[in-house]
Amino acid sequence: MLLVVYLATISLLVGSFLNVVIYRVPRRESIVRPSSHCPKCGHVLHTWELIPVLSWLSLRGRCHACHTRISWRYPAMELLTLAASMFVLWKVGLHWVLIPSLMFTWILLALSAIDLETHLLPDRITKPGMVLGLLVNASWFIGTHPVIALTTPLNAVLGLSFGYGGLWLFAFAYRRITGVHGMGGGDLKMLGMIGAWLGWQSMLFSLWVGGLVGGVVAIAYLMAGKGRQYAIPFGPYLAAGAFAAMLYASAAWGYLAS
Ligand SMILES: [Zn+2]
Repeated sequence: MLLVVYLATISLLVGSFLNVVIYRVPRRESIVRPSSHCPKCGHVLHTWELIPVLSWLSLRGRCHACHTRISWRYPAMELLTLAASMFVLWKVGLHWVLIPSLMFTWILLALSAIDLETHLLPDRITKPGMVLGLLVNASWFIGTHPVIALTTPLNAVLGLSFGYGGLWLFAFAYRRITGVHGMGGGDLKMLGMIGAWLGWQSMLFSLWVGGLVGGVVAIAYLMAGKGRQYAIPFGPYLAAGAFAAMLYASAAWGYLAS
């Protein structure tokens, strides 16, 4: 129980940090300096104004100094981080794999939000993400987990090279044949990162789930009469696919093998 409260607090604080990352990384700003401030009036936030969700509620969504609106996305991101982290804790339990699983979840959340807002998947996140995934899988000998689909070092390297390189070839061919940009470079780097974390099998699983969900949403948009030119970022779907793969791919492979 104490652990749940502890982890809940940590994940809210991480959500708050992800808000900083989501705002600053696409703007090529440092994520440590300067300290958090109102983008409108420069008011530097007091410690109590940094408390996740509660500070936003007590300020009624406005800057303490200039009363400019603070987007609901900030507390929403904190709550989403809390929910996702609690779900991962529930699926994983107390196991060393909990730490990398949470880190991967948080990276996916940051990438999704940045892609939704800016249609970018910054190298500053995907590239260190690739390295981190390889490092985590290099420690697979500590013990594997029955649910979480981390992988062997070999599969991680294959996932990275196939996710990034192999699908780059596919995207290149697709563009040559159809003249349409299918996936952007950022999507491919994100796929490579997912491969480095989960291995090539689960990377394909992520792509499949992401494509399926993204496809359904795209059809819904078309049927609702929104224009074809309305570009839908693929990052959030890919992230949803990778999250599902992390938690359910092992079960899926087991089911297929039985
Ligand atoms: Zn202000």
